[in-house]
Amino acid sequence: MAEKLALVGIGKIARDQHIPAIGANPDWSLEAAVSRHATVEGIDHFETLDALLETRPDITTVSLAIPPQPRFAYAAAALRAGRNVMLEKPPGQSLAECYALEALAKENGVTIFATWHSRHADCVPDLKAWLAERTLKKLTITWKEDVRLWHPGQEWIWEPGGMGVFDPGINALSILTEILPHPVHLSGATLEFPENRDTPIAARLEFADPSGAPMTADFDWRQEGPQTWNIEIDTDRGSARLSLGGERLEIDGALVKQGANHEYANLYARMAALVKAGESDMDLSPMIHVCDAFSLGKRVVTAPFHY
Ligand code: NAP
Repeated sequence: MAEKLALVGIGKIARDQHIPAIGANPDWSLEAAVSRHATVEGIDHFETLDALLETRPDITTVSLAIPPQPRFAYAAAALRAGRNVMLEKPPGQSLAECYALEALAKENGVTIFATWHSRHADCVPDLKAWLAERTLKKLTITWKEDVRLWHPGQEWIWEPGGMGVFDPGINALSILTEILPHPVHLSGATLEFPENRDTPIAARLEFADPSGAPMTADFDWRQEGPQTWNIEIDTDRGSARLSLGGERLEIDGALVKQGANHEYANLYARMAALVKAGESDMDLSPMIHVCDAFSLGKRVVTAPFHY
């Protein structure tokens, strides 16, 4: 029988991805939306999470598609009420919040899933398998997009806890931490903050790879024209280029796979499997790199940003 689910926060990603992905998966039944402003046709509407938790004890799972700043309070309330929780990325605005949520899920005997949608892009498993049989020589991430196009009018990304350019950049880091056969750590960073904003508009990261292979990431939100979400890898036996955020893979210059967008379908399939098995998945490794970038990063003040 399908698990009953409520979706919290009916914004851009809820409408673009969550609602269609839930609707297409017979393991889930979308029963209710929690939203301060919006309704979703054909399902119950609650203005607050507390009202949902009190009124619908039959809803076993709550999926949070809200920005990171309010997420902890919502997730903690749902976990304390004995509901499984699915978290949009990033799973919180600080690591300590995420550890606390993980502990709360355990205490209450429910599932928590820190989702990383880019990890579920079609070509990520192929690249991981290819890399597992080779020795890494160099890895370059270039994640450059136009913030005005992808985050029109969103103020939360510029507020403390919103992470700025790391909001998309963490997607690249979620792929990096998935495909590498060994962990790496950040060794240096430069962050560019618009003079009127609290979060960075661009970041340049350097990682220390145990083998000494150069590894960098370049995130920029000022990219106009073609948008770039690429990871390029050189190895002892050939090179690979993952592009379109993980949907396209070229090896030695030749296209080997052109996928489509199945990221949220894969996320809801994974959540269903976790709930069924009574397990959780709270991998925080992408978030650790972001927190280290804020800790290690040299700060540069740049031109003010206005929409
Ligand atoms: P959004 O449209 O700006 O906000 C989503 C919804 O969250 C809002 O419509 C609002 O819903 C609710 N919300 C906003 N501020 C809130 C607050 N202070 N307290 C409680 N609820 C609040 O954002 P989004 O682009 O969908 O992003 C949401 C999350 O998904 C972020 O963590 C983002 O990183 C992630 N994500 C976004 C994208 C994308 O392409 N946009 C892609 C992948 C992941 P109600 O009005 O219904 O209450």
